[in-house]
Amino acid sequence: MKITSITPWIVEAKGTYFGEFMFVEVKTDEGIVGWGEVTTSTKLANRSVAGVIRQLEELLKGSDPTQIESIWNRSFRNFTYMGSRGAACLAISGIDIALWDILGKSLNRPIYALLGGKVRDDVLLYTHPDQTKFTDPGAVKEEIMGIVESGHTALKFDPFPHLRGLQVRRNGYLDGELSREAERIGAELTALIRETTGPEIEILIDAHGRFNVPTAVRLCNRLKDAGQIDWFEEPVPPESYHALRQVREQIDVPIAVGERLHTRWEFVPILENQLADYIMPDVTWAGGISELKKIATMCEAYYVPVTPHDASGPINVVAGSHVMITTPNFYRVETSLHDLSSYNRFIQEPLDNSGGSLKLTDKPGLGIEMDMDFLRAHALDGYGG
Ligand SMILES: [Mg+2]
Repeated sequence: MKITSITPWIVEAKGTYFGEFMFVEVKTDEGIVGWGEVTTSTKLANRSVAGVIRQLEELLKGSDPTQIESIWNRSFRNFTYMGSRGAACLAISGIDIALWDILGKSLNRPIYALLGGKVRDDVLLYTHPDQTKFTDPGAVKEEIMGIVESGHTALKFDPFPHLRGLQVRRNGYLDGELSREAERIGAELTALIRETTGPEIEILIDAHGRFNVPTAVRLCNRLKDAGQIDWFEEPVPPESYHALRQVREQIDVPIAVGERLHTRWEFVPILENQLADYIMPDVTWAGGISELKKIATMCEAYYVPVTPHDASGPINVVAGSHVMITTPNFYRVETSLHDLSSYNRFIQEPLDNSGGSLKLTDKPGLGIEMDMDFLRAHALDGYGG
C-alpha cells in the first residue's frame, strides 16, 4: 500500500466555538482513506499548519502508510533546523492519526486493539459549560445543572474570559496582571458554580497561561477559598518552567499543564522536576496517537495521571480516547461541551458520551466515518473538496 495524497481540509462550522475545524485526509492506492484532525486555536495557525501538511505530502507520497514510526521520524527530522515542535509537530500529529486510522482499517481492527487493547470499558470525560450563556446568576446555574444532570462528574471553566475590557484578551500576555475587580468577579463566579454543583463534582480551573507568578499564586488561593477547586491549569505561560516551579511552591492546588507542549521530550523536565500533578497533551498537537501513547507511558513511570486536552473536534476526542482506553494512568479526556451534537455535522453517526463517558465502537480504525457531503459543502476554497 502506498500514500497517494495528503489533504488539509479547513471546514467552516458556524455556531461553534472555533468557527472552523481542520481535518487531514490521507488517501492510498488501495482505496483505504484515513482521517486526522489538527484544529488549532486561531485561523492564522490553521492555515500555517495546512502549509506544512502540503509540504509533508511531497515528502511522504509513495510511502507505505503502515510504516507509522518511520514516517513520524522522517517527518520530524526534516524540520530539525527550524524547530520540530510547533507547526511541524501539529502537521505530523494530524497525519499520524490518519495513518493509524488506515492501519486499523487495513487490518479490520480498532486502533485501541493495536495499542495493546482496552484496560477499561469506556473513557471518562470532563467538560465545559458554554460560558457565552453566563449572562446572570440564574443562567450560570442552569448551564452548570445541565452538566451535572448529563452525568459528567467534572467540569472546567475559565473564571476570567467574560471580563473583556478588564484585562488582556484570552490568549494574550502582556504584564500578566489582573485587576482586583476582575479577581473579585471571577471568585464570585467560582463560588456560585461550587454552590450549584455541590461538593462531589470536580471543578477544574483553566488560567490559560495568562498570569505572572505573583498574580497566579494570588488568584489560585482566592479561587480555592471561593470554590474548593480541584486543579489550576496553566497558571503561567508555557515558556518558563522556572515560573511554573515558583507557582507550584506557593500553592496547594494540583497543577495541570501540557496542551502547549509537544513531543515526549518537552514533558521530560515537567516529570523530572515534579512540576505538575496532571499531564494534558493534545493528541492533535503533541505528536499524534504514536506520541500520546509514548508520553502516557513516560508518565506511568512517575505515577502521574494523563488527561488529554482533546476539546476541539470529533476526531480529536476519539483519537485521544483510543489511546486512553489502553492507558492505565488515566484521569479523564476533555470535551468542549457536554452536548456534543455540534460534532454530528462532520460524521455519519453521532458520538456517544452518555453518562459522562465516551463509548468507542469496535469498528476498524478510529471507528467513525466523515460526512463527505457536509465537508465538501463547507470546505474553504483551496482547503479540501
Ligand atoms: Mg487549557
